[in-house]
Amino acid sequence: MVGLGKSNLPLIRWLRRKGAEVVACDRLEADQLGDRIAELRELGVREFHLGAGYLDRLPEFGIICLTPGIPKHLPPIQAARARGAWITGEIPLVLALCRALVVGVTGSAGKTTTTTLVGEILKASGRQVYVGGNIGTPLIEQVESLPPDAVVVLELSSFQLQLATHSPRVAVLTNISPNHLDVHASMEEYVEAKKNIYRYQGPEGRVVINADHPGTVPLIPEVADRAVRFSLRGDPGGRMAAFLEDGNLVWRVEGHRQPVLRREELPLLGDHNVANALAALAAAFLAGGTFHAARQVLTRFQGVEHRLEPVRVLDGVRYINDSKATAPAETLAALAAIRDPIVLIAGGSDKGIPFDDLAAALVGSHVHTLILTGATAGKIRRAVEAAAAARGVAPPRLVEVPDMAAAVQAARAAARPGDVVLLSPACASFDRYRSFEERGRHFKELVMALA
Ligand code: ADP
Repeated sequence: MVGLGKSNLPLIRWLRRKGAEVVACDRLEADQLGDRIAELRELGVREFHLGAGYLDRLPEFGIICLTPGIPKHLPPIQAARARGAWITGEIPLVLALCRALVVGVTGSAGKTTTTTLVGEILKASGRQVYVGGNIGTPLIEQVESLPPDAVVVLELSSFQLQLATHSPRVAVLTNISPNHLDVHASMEEYVEAKKNIYRYQGPEGRVVINADHPGTVPLIPEVADRAVRFSLRGDPGGRMAAFLEDGNLVWRVEGHRQPVLRREELPLLGDHNVANALAALAAAFLAGGTFHAARQVLTRFQGVEHRLEPVRVLDGVRYINDSKATAPAETLAALAAIRDPIVLIAGGSDKGIPFDDLAAALVGSHVHTLILTGATAGKIRRAVEAAAAARGVAPPRLVEVPDMAAAVQAARAAARPGDVVLLSPACASFDRYRSFEERGRHFKELVMALA
Protein backbone atom coordinates (compact mmCIF):
# COMPACT_ATOMS: atom_id res chain seq x y z
CA MET A 1 0.00 0.00 0.00
CA VAL A 2 1.68 3.20 -1.14
CA GLY A 3 0.25 6.35 0.46
CA LEU A 4 -1.23 6.24 3.93
CA GLY A 5 -3.73 9.10 3.71
CA LYS A 6 -7.02 8.91 5.53
CA SER A 7 -8.89 7.88 2.38
CA ASN A 8 -6.83 4.68 2.10
CA LEU A 9 -7.84 3.35 5.52
CA PRO A 10 -11.07 1.78 4.23
CA LEU A 11 -9.07 0.02 1.50
CA ILE A 12 -6.55 -1.29 4.02
CA ARG A 13 -9.39 -2.48 6.28
CA TRP A 14 -11.01 -4.24 3.32
CA LEU A 15 -7.72 -5.89 2.29
CA ARG A 16 -7.13 -7.09 5.83
CA ARG A 17 -10.64 -8.56 5.99
CA LYS A 18 -9.81 -10.45 2.80
CA GLY A 19 -6.82 -11.88 4.66
CA ALA A 20 -4.16 -9.85 2.87
CA GLU A 21 -0.83 -9.07 4.53
CA VAL A 22 -0.46 -5.30 4.09
CA VAL A 23 2.92 -3.55 3.94
CA ALA A 24 2.54 0.22 4.35
CA CYS A 25 4.72 2.71 2.44
CA ASP A 26 4.71 6.50 2.61
CA ARG A 27 7.09 9.31 1.76
CA LEU A 28 6.38 10.85 5.17
CA GLU A 29 8.28 9.79 8.28
CA ALA A 30 6.56 8.17 11.28
CA ASP A 31 6.47 11.40 13.30
CA GLN A 32 4.80 13.23 10.39
CA LEU A 33 2.17 10.50 10.12
CA GLY A 34 1.26 10.85 13.80
CA ASP A 35 -1.71 8.74 14.92
CA ARG A 36 -1.97 7.04 11.55
CA ILE A 37 0.75 4.51 12.50
CA ALA A 38 -1.22 3.37 15.55
CA GLU A 39 -4.43 3.15 13.51
CA LEU A 40 -2.66 0.99 10.95
CA ARG A 41 -1.12 -1.26 13.59
CA GLU A 42 -4.60 -1.75 14.99
CA LEU A 43 -5.69 -2.92 11.55
CA GLY A 44 -2.91 -5.49 11.66
CA VAL A 45 -0.30 -3.75 9.50
CA ARG A 46 3.08 -4.90 10.77
CA GLU A 47 5.60 -3.70 8.22
CA PHE A 48 6.27 -0.06 7.34
CA HIS A 49 8.55 1.56 4.75
CA LEU A 50 8.66 5.28 5.52
CA GLY A 51 10.64 8.34 4.51
CA ALA A 52 13.07 8.84 1.66
CA GLY A 53 13.49 5.18 0.64
CA TYR A 54 9.79 4.32 0.87
CA LEU A 55 9.64 2.83 -2.65
CA ASP A 56 12.98 1.02 -2.59
CA ARG A 57 11.51 -2.44 -2.07
CA LEU A 58 8.40 -1.95 -4.17
CA PRO A 59 9.46 -4.20 -7.05
CA GLU A 60 9.42 -7.18 -4.63
CA PHE A 61 5.64 -7.07 -4.17
CA GLY A 62 3.00 -8.80 -6.28
CA ILE A 63 0.00 -6.55 -5.68
CA ILE A 64 0.62 -2.85 -5.25
CA CYS A 65 -2.14 -0.42 -4.28
CA LEU A 66 -1.36 3.21 -5.01
CA THR A 67 -3.01 6.27 -3.60
CA PRO A 68 -4.32 8.32 -6.56
CA GLY A 69 -1.79 11.18 -6.53
CA ILE A 70 1.38 9.04 -6.85
CA PRO A 71 3.00 9.59 -10.28
CA LYS A 72 2.83 6.25 -12.11
CA HIS A 73 6.05 6.91 -14.00
CA LEU A 74 8.30 6.77 -10.90
CA PRO A 75 11.08 4.25 -11.66
CA PRO A 76 10.28 1.80 -8.81
CA ILE A 77 6.65 1.63 -10.00
CA GLN A 78 7.76 1.04 -13.59
CA ALA A 79 10.17 -1.63 -12.37
CA ALA A 80 7.42 -3.36 -10.39
CA ARG A 81 5.17 -3.31 -13.44
CA ALA A 82 7.94 -4.72 -15.61
CA ARG A 83 8.31 -7.58 -13.14
CA GLY A 84 4.62 -8.37 -13.52
CA ALA A 85 3.16 -6.80 -10.38
CA TRP A 86 -0.54 -5.96 -10.40
CA ILE A 87 -0.83 -2.22 -9.74
CA THR A 88 -4.21 -1.04 -8.58
CA GLY A 89 -6.05 1.21 -6.14
CA GLU A 90 -9.40 1.82 -4.51
CA ILE A 91 -11.26 3.11 -7.57
CA PRO A 92 -10.01 0.44 -10.00
CA LEU A 93 -11.14 -2.18 -7.46
CA VAL A 94 -14.55 -0.54 -6.96
CA LEU A 95 -15.06 -0.42 -10.73
CA ALA A 96 -14.06 -4.07 -11.06
CA LEU A 97 -16.26 -5.33 -8.21
CA CYS A 98 -19.41 -3.23 -8.55
CA ARG A 99 -22.47 -5.07 -9.88
CA ALA A 100 -24.78 -2.05 -9.59
CA LEU A 101 -25.06 0.42 -12.45
CA VAL A 102 -22.12 2.84 -12.35
CA VAL A 103 -22.20 6.38 -13.70
CA GLY A 104 -18.64 7.77 -13.83
CA VAL A 105 -17.88 11.45 -14.37
CA THR A 106 -14.50 12.75 -15.46
CA GLY A 107 -13.12 15.83 -17.20
CA SER A 108 -10.72 18.64 -16.41
CA ALA A 109 -13.43 20.86 -14.93
CA GLY A 110 -17.03 20.41 -13.84
CA LYS A 111 -16.69 16.94 -12.32
CA THR A 112 -17.99 17.73 -8.84
CA THR A 113 -20.83 19.91 -10.08
CA THR A 114 -21.93 17.33 -12.66
CA THR A 115 -21.51 14.36 -10.31
CA THR A 116 -23.53 16.10 -7.61
CA LEU A 117 -26.30 16.93 -10.09
CA VAL A 118 -26.49 13.35 -11.40
CA GLY A 119 -26.64 12.00 -7.84
CA GLU A 120 -29.37 14.45 -6.83
CA ILE A 121 -31.50 13.76 -9.92
CA LEU A 122 -31.29 10.01 -9.39
CA LYS A 123 -32.13 10.37 -5.69
CA ALA A 124 -35.11 12.55 -6.55
CA SER A 125 -36.13 9.82 -9.02
CA GLY A 126 -36.45 7.41 -6.10
CA ARG A 127 -33.32 5.39 -6.80
CA GLN A 128 -30.95 4.16 -4.13
CA VAL A 129 -27.84 6.20 -4.91
CA TYR A 130 -24.24 6.05 -3.70
CA VAL A 131 -22.09 9.04 -4.60
CA GLY A 132 -18.34 8.54 -4.26
CA GLY A 133 -14.96 8.51 -5.93
CA ASN A 134 -13.14 11.77 -5.61
CA ILE A 135 -15.95 13.09 -3.41
CA GLY A 136 -17.86 11.46 -0.59
CA THR A 137 -16.68 8.39 1.28
CA PRO A 138 -14.65 5.53 -0.20
CA LEU A 139 -16.99 2.79 -1.40
CA ILE A 140 -14.68 -0.22 -1.33
CA GLU A 141 -16.10 -1.61 1.91
CA GLN A 142 -19.71 -1.43 0.67
CA VAL A 143 -19.29 -2.25 -2.97
CA GLU A 144 -19.76 -6.01 -2.77
CA SER A 145 -23.01 -5.72 -0.84
CA LEU A 146 -24.73 -3.04 -2.93
CA PRO A 147 -28.12 -4.14 -4.25
CA PRO A 148 -28.01 -4.67 -8.03
CA ASP A 149 -30.73 -2.05 -8.56
CA ALA A 150 -28.73 0.69 -6.80
CA VAL A 151 -26.84 3.31 -8.78
CA VAL A 152 -23.28 4.32 -8.00
CA VAL A 153 -22.24 7.79 -9.18
CA LEU A 154 -18.49 8.29 -9.14
CA GLU A 155 -16.45 11.42 -9.66
CA LEU A 156 -13.24 10.14 -11.23
CA SER A 157 -9.96 12.02 -11.48
CA SER A 158 -7.36 11.21 -14.10
CA PHE A 159 -5.20 9.71 -11.34
CA GLN A 160 -7.96 7.34 -10.27
CA LEU A 161 -8.73 6.33 -13.84
CA GLN A 162 -5.13 5.70 -14.75
CA LEU A 163 -5.06 2.23 -13.18
CA ALA A 164 -8.65 1.27 -14.05
CA THR A 165 -9.31 -2.00 -15.85
CA HIS A 166 -13.11 -1.58 -15.97
CA SER A 167 -15.18 1.36 -17.18
CA PRO A 168 -18.50 2.67 -15.84
CA ARG A 169 -21.59 1.71 -17.88
CA VAL A 170 -22.47 5.39 -18.24
CA ALA A 171 -19.32 7.49 -18.74
CA VAL A 172 -19.38 11.29 -18.72
CA LEU A 173 -16.53 13.34 -20.18
CA THR A 174 -17.12 17.03 -19.46
CA ASN A 175 -14.05 18.54 -21.20
CA ILE A 176 -10.27 18.09 -21.41
CA SER A 177 -7.82 20.97 -20.88
CA PRO A 178 -4.23 20.89 -19.62
CA ASN A 179 -4.24 20.01 -15.91
CA HIS A 180 -2.11 18.18 -13.30
CA LEU A 181 0.95 18.36 -15.51
CA ASP A 182 3.02 18.34 -12.33
CA VAL A 183 2.06 14.70 -11.67
CA HIS A 184 1.32 13.27 -15.12
CA ALA A 185 4.34 12.54 -17.30
CA SER A 186 2.77 14.39 -20.26
CA MET A 187 -0.49 15.74 -21.67
CA GLU A 188 -0.75 12.46 -23.67
CA GLU A 189 -0.60 10.44 -20.46
CA TYR A 190 -3.33 12.65 -18.97
CA VAL A 191 -5.65 12.16 -21.97
CA GLU A 192 -4.96 8.40 -22.09
CA ALA A 193 -5.91 8.19 -18.39
CA LYS A 194 -9.16 10.07 -19.04
CA LYS A 195 -10.00 7.68 -21.88
CA ASN A 196 -10.13 4.79 -19.40
CA ILE A 197 -13.58 6.12 -18.48
CA TYR A 198 -14.87 4.39 -21.63
CA ARG A 199 -11.99 2.18 -22.83
CA TYR A 200 -13.29 -1.02 -21.20
CA GLN A 201 -17.02 -0.52 -21.83
CA GLY A 202 -19.08 -3.26 -23.45
CA PRO A 203 -21.62 -2.63 -26.22
CA GLU A 204 -24.23 -1.52 -23.64
CA GLY A 205 -21.93 1.31 -22.50
CA ARG A 206 -22.78 4.96 -23.20
CA VAL A 207 -20.43 7.95 -23.33
CA VAL A 208 -21.90 11.35 -22.55
CA ILE A 209 -19.41 13.64 -24.23
CA ASN A 210 -18.95 17.37 -24.89
CA ALA A 211 -19.49 18.06 -28.60
CA ASP A 212 -18.24 21.68 -28.29
CA HIS A 213 -14.92 21.28 -26.52
CA PRO A 214 -11.65 21.04 -28.50
CA GLY A 215 -10.30 18.51 -25.99
CA THR A 216 -13.18 16.04 -26.35
CA VAL A 217 -14.35 16.42 -29.98
CA PRO A 218 -11.40 14.37 -31.36
CA LEU A 219 -12.41 11.47 -29.10
CA ILE A 220 -15.99 11.18 -30.38
CA PRO A 221 -15.13 8.95 -33.40
CA GLU A 222 -13.46 6.49 -30.99
CA VAL A 223 -16.73 5.86 -29.19
CA ALA A 224 -18.85 6.06 -32.34
CA ASP A 225 -22.43 4.96 -31.74
CA ARG A 226 -21.97 4.81 -27.96
CA ALA A 227 -21.58 8.62 -27.92
CA VAL A 228 -24.36 10.72 -26.42
CA ARG A 229 -23.27 14.25 -27.28
CA PHE A 230 -24.10 17.42 -25.40
CA SER A 231 -23.77 20.91 -26.82
CA LEU A 232 -24.54 24.57 -26.18
CA ARG A 233 -24.82 25.13 -29.93
CA GLY A 234 -27.97 23.26 -30.86
CA ASP A 235 -28.53 19.61 -31.74
CA PRO A 236 -25.14 17.86 -32.12
CA GLY A 237 -26.69 14.78 -33.76
CA GLY A 238 -26.52 11.09 -32.88
CA ARG A 239 -29.29 8.81 -31.68
CA MET A 240 -29.60 10.63 -28.33
CA ALA A 241 -28.35 14.08 -27.35
CA ALA A 242 -28.71 16.89 -24.81
CA PHE A 243 -28.42 20.46 -26.06
CA LEU A 244 -29.33 24.09 -25.67
CA GLU A 245 -31.78 25.31 -28.29
CA ASP A 246 -33.83 28.52 -28.32
CA GLY A 247 -33.06 29.02 -24.61
CA ASN A 248 -34.22 25.52 -23.63
CA LEU A 249 -32.18 22.63 -22.27
CA VAL A 250 -33.47 19.80 -24.46
CA TRP A 251 -33.14 16.01 -24.26
CA ARG A 252 -33.69 14.15 -27.52
CA VAL A 253 -34.06 10.42 -28.13
CA GLU A 254 -34.20 9.80 -31.87
CA GLY A 255 -36.94 12.08 -33.21
CA HIS A 256 -38.50 12.73 -29.82
CA ARG A 257 -37.37 16.02 -28.24
CA GLN A 258 -38.21 16.97 -24.71
CA PRO A 259 -37.44 20.49 -23.37
CA VAL A 260 -36.48 19.99 -19.70
CA LEU A 261 -36.13 23.56 -18.46
CA ARG A 262 -35.42 27.05 -19.70
CA ARG A 263 -31.92 28.35 -19.35
CA GLU A 264 -32.95 31.15 -17.00
CA GLU A 265 -34.57 28.61 -14.67
CA LEU A 266 -31.10 27.22 -13.92
CA PRO A 267 -29.80 29.14 -10.86
CA LEU A 268 -26.12 28.35 -11.64
CA LEU A 269 -23.99 31.06 -13.28
CA GLY A 270 -22.33 30.77 -16.66
CA ASP A 271 -22.38 28.77 -19.89
CA HIS A 272 -20.06 26.20 -18.38
CA ASN A 273 -22.77 25.34 -15.87
CA VAL A 274 -25.35 24.98 -18.64
CA ALA A 275 -22.92 22.46 -20.16
CA ASN A 276 -22.61 20.69 -16.78
CA ALA A 277 -26.42 20.59 -16.47
CA LEU A 278 -26.79 19.12 -19.97
CA ALA A 279 -24.19 16.44 -19.22
CA ALA A 280 -25.90 15.67 -15.91
CA LEU A 281 -29.39 15.36 -17.31
CA ALA A 282 -28.18 13.11 -20.13
CA ALA A 283 -26.33 10.83 -17.70
CA ALA A 284 -29.22 10.77 -15.25
CA PHE A 285 -31.72 9.85 -17.97
CA LEU A 286 -29.42 7.08 -19.24
CA ALA A 287 -29.28 5.73 -15.67
CA GLY A 288 -33.06 5.72 -15.23
CA GLY A 289 -33.71 9.21 -13.83
CA THR A 290 -37.11 10.79 -14.37
CA PHE A 291 -37.98 13.95 -16.23
CA HIS A 292 -39.78 15.40 -13.23
CA ALA A 293 -36.76 14.84 -10.95
CA ALA A 294 -34.36 16.44 -13.44
CA ARG A 295 -36.54 19.55 -13.65
CA GLN A 296 -36.95 19.75 -9.91
CA VAL A 297 -33.23 19.39 -9.13
CA LEU A 298 -31.91 21.62 -11.93
CA THR A 299 -34.28 24.50 -11.16
CA ARG A 300 -33.33 24.50 -7.45
CA PHE A 301 -29.63 23.61 -7.38
CA GLN A 302 -27.60 26.45 -5.85
CA GLY A 303 -24.17 25.05 -6.69
CA VAL A 304 -21.39 23.46 -4.70
CA GLU A 305 -19.34 25.43 -2.15
CA HIS A 306 -16.20 27.15 -3.56
CA ARG A 307 -17.51 27.06 -7.16
CA LEU A 308 -18.61 30.60 -8.10
CA GLU A 309 -20.14 30.83 -4.64
CA PRO A 310 -21.71 34.21 -3.76
CA VAL A 311 -20.30 35.36 -0.41
CA ARG A 312 -21.60 38.84 0.27
CA VAL A 313 -22.65 42.17 -1.23
CA LEU A 314 -20.89 45.13 0.42
CA ASP A 315 -21.07 48.76 -0.77
CA GLY A 316 -22.63 47.56 -4.02
CA VAL A 317 -19.76 45.13 -4.68
CA ARG A 318 -20.45 41.38 -5.06
CA TYR A 319 -17.80 39.08 -3.53
CA ILE A 320 -17.57 35.62 -5.13
CA ASN A 321 -15.54 32.64 -3.93
CA ASP A 322 -14.30 30.40 -6.74
CA SER A 323 -11.38 28.87 -4.82
CA LYS A 324 -11.97 25.56 -6.65
CA ALA A 325 -10.71 27.20 -9.85
CA THR A 326 -7.30 25.57 -9.56
CA ALA A 327 -6.43 25.73 -13.28
CA PRO A 328 -6.53 28.54 -15.86
CA ALA A 329 -9.42 27.00 -17.85
CA GLU A 330 -11.61 27.19 -14.75
CA THR A 331 -10.79 30.85 -14.16
CA LEU A 332 -11.60 31.50 -17.82
CA ALA A 333 -15.00 29.87 -17.26
CA ALA A 334 -15.60 32.14 -14.26
CA LEU A 335 -14.64 35.26 -16.25
CA ALA A 336 -17.05 34.22 -18.99
CA ALA A 337 -19.84 33.64 -16.47
CA ILE A 338 -19.67 37.14 -14.97
CA ARG A 339 -20.63 40.20 -17.03
CA ASP A 340 -19.89 42.95 -14.49
CA PRO A 341 -16.45 44.62 -14.13
CA ILE A 342 -14.15 42.37 -12.12
CA VAL A 343 -11.39 42.73 -9.57
CA LEU A 344 -9.71 39.32 -9.83
CA ILE A 345 -7.62 37.71 -7.10
CA ALA A 346 -5.40 34.97 -8.55
CA GLY A 347 -2.21 33.02 -7.94
CA GLY A 348 -1.24 30.02 -5.83
CA SER A 349 0.95 26.97 -6.19
CA ASP A 350 2.28 25.88 -9.57
CA LYS A 351 0.86 22.86 -11.42
CA GLY A 352 3.01 23.47 -14.48
CA ILE A 353 0.15 24.72 -16.66
CA PRO A 354 1.00 27.70 -18.91
CA PHE A 355 -0.80 30.99 -18.18
CA ASP A 356 -0.67 32.32 -21.75
CA ASP A 357 -4.34 31.71 -22.62
CA LEU A 358 -5.51 33.22 -19.35
CA ALA A 359 -3.21 36.22 -19.81
CA ALA A 360 -4.46 36.79 -23.36
CA ALA A 361 -8.06 36.72 -22.10
CA LEU A 362 -7.32 39.14 -19.27
CA VAL A 363 -5.83 41.83 -21.48
CA GLY A 364 -8.54 44.21 -22.68
CA SER A 365 -11.20 42.31 -20.70
CA HIS A 366 -13.72 43.32 -18.03
CA VAL A 367 -11.08 42.54 -15.38
CA HIS A 368 -9.86 46.04 -14.52
CA THR A 369 -7.64 45.06 -11.60
CA LEU A 370 -5.65 41.86 -11.14
CA ILE A 371 -4.45 41.15 -7.63
CA LEU A 372 -1.74 38.50 -7.51
CA THR A 373 -0.52 36.52 -4.56
CA GLY A 374 1.15 33.17 -3.92
CA ALA A 375 3.94 31.24 -5.61
CA THR A 376 2.79 31.90 -9.18
CA ALA A 377 2.22 35.67 -8.79
CA GLY A 378 5.33 36.65 -10.74
CA LYS A 379 4.69 34.05 -13.47
CA ILE A 380 1.15 35.30 -14.05
CA ARG A 381 2.26 38.95 -14.01
CA ARG A 382 4.92 38.28 -16.65
CA ALA A 383 2.43 36.37 -18.82
CA VAL A 384 -0.07 39.26 -18.62
CA GLU A 385 2.59 41.88 -19.36
CA ALA A 386 3.79 39.87 -22.36
CA ALA A 387 0.23 39.45 -23.66
CA ALA A 388 -0.41 43.18 -23.29
CA ALA A 389 2.84 44.08 -25.04
CA ALA A 390 2.06 41.66 -27.88
CA ARG A 391 -1.31 43.32 -28.43
CA GLY A 392 -0.02 46.86 -27.88
CA VAL A 393 -2.61 47.59 -25.17
CA ALA A 394 -2.38 48.33 -21.46
CA PRO A 395 -2.72 45.34 -19.10
CA PRO A 396 -5.25 45.45 -16.25
CA ARG A 397 -3.92 47.22 -13.18
CA LEU A 398 -1.53 44.70 -11.56
CA VAL A 399 -1.10 44.56 -7.81
CA GLU A 400 1.15 42.01 -6.08
CA VAL A 401 0.40 41.37 -2.41
CA PRO A 402 1.94 39.08 0.22
CA ASP A 403 -1.17 37.14 1.30
CA MET A 404 -4.94 36.68 1.17
CA ALA A 405 -5.67 39.29 3.84
CA ALA A 406 -3.78 41.91 1.83
CA ALA A 407 -5.49 40.69 -1.34
CA VAL A 408 -8.95 41.22 0.14
CA GLN A 409 -7.96 44.70 1.37
CA ALA A 410 -6.53 45.63 -2.01
CA ALA A 411 -9.62 44.27 -3.78
CA ARG A 412 -11.92 46.29 -1.61
CA ALA A 413 -9.93 49.44 -2.29
CA ALA A 414 -10.00 48.81 -6.05
CA ALA A 415 -13.68 47.86 -6.39
CA ARG A 416 -16.43 50.31 -7.30
CA PRO A 417 -20.20 49.80 -6.84
CA GLY A 418 -21.43 47.34 -9.49
CA ASP A 419 -18.11 45.46 -9.57
CA VAL A 420 -17.44 41.86 -8.64
CA VAL A 421 -14.50 40.86 -6.46
CA LEU A 422 -13.69 37.36 -7.62
CA LEU A 423 -11.31 34.89 -5.99
CA SER A 424 -10.58 32.50 -8.87
CA PRO A 425 -6.90 31.62 -8.44
CA ALA A 426 -6.18 29.53 -11.60
CA CYS A 427 -3.73 27.65 -9.36
CA ALA A 428 -3.71 25.05 -6.61
CA SER A 429 -3.58 26.17 -3.01
CA PHE A 430 -0.73 24.11 -1.58
CA ASP A 431 1.74 26.99 -1.36
CA ARG A 432 -0.20 28.40 1.61
CA TYR A 433 -3.15 26.15 2.42
CA ARG A 434 -3.87 22.48 2.97
CA SER A 435 -6.64 22.54 0.38
CA PHE A 436 -8.73 24.76 -1.87
CA GLU A 437 -11.50 24.46 0.75
CA GLU A 438 -9.27 25.99 3.41
CA ARG A 439 -8.30 28.80 1.00
CA GLY A 440 -11.96 29.47 0.12
CA ARG A 441 -13.02 29.52 3.76
CA HIS A 442 -10.20 31.92 4.61
CA PHE A 443 -11.30 34.24 1.80
CA LYS A 444 -14.92 34.10 2.99
CA GLU A 445 -13.92 34.87 6.59
CA LEU A 446 -11.87 37.86 5.49
CA VAL A 447 -14.72 39.14 3.33
CA MET A 448 -17.30 38.67 6.08
CA ALA A 449 -15.04 40.59 8.46
CA LEU A 450 -14.90 43.69 6.24
CA ALA A 451 -16.66 46.52 8.04
P1 ADP B 1 -13.92 19.55 -10.79
O1 ADP B 1 -14.53 18.63 -9.81
O2 ADP B 1 -13.70 18.92 -12.14
O3 ADP B 1 -12.72 20.30 -10.31
P2 ADP B 1 -15.98 21.51 -10.18
O4 ADP B 1 -17.40 21.27 -10.52
O5 ADP B 1 -15.56 21.33 -8.77
O6 ADP B 1 -15.05 20.66 -11.14
O7 ADP B 1 -15.58 22.98 -10.65
C1 ADP B 1 -14.21 23.39 -10.54
C2 ADP B 1 -13.99 24.80 -11.04
O8 ADP B 1 -14.20 24.86 -12.44
C3 ADP B 1 -14.92 25.86 -10.46
O9 ADP B 1 -14.17 27.03 -10.37
C4 ADP B 1 -16.03 25.96 -11.46
O10 ADP B 1 -16.64 27.23 -11.43
C5 ADP B 1 -15.30 25.70 -12.78
N1 ADP B 1 -16.09 24.88 -13.70
C6 ADP B 1 -17.12 24.06 -13.40
N2 ADP B 1 -17.56 23.45 -14.50
C7 ADP B 1 -16.81 23.86 -15.53
C8 ADP B 1 -16.78 23.59 -16.93
N3 ADP B 1 -17.65 22.74 -17.49
N4 ADP B 1 -15.84 24.22 -17.67
C9 ADP B 1 -14.96 25.07 -17.13
N5 ADP B 1 -14.93 25.38 -15.82
C10 ADP B 1 -15.85 24.80 -15.02
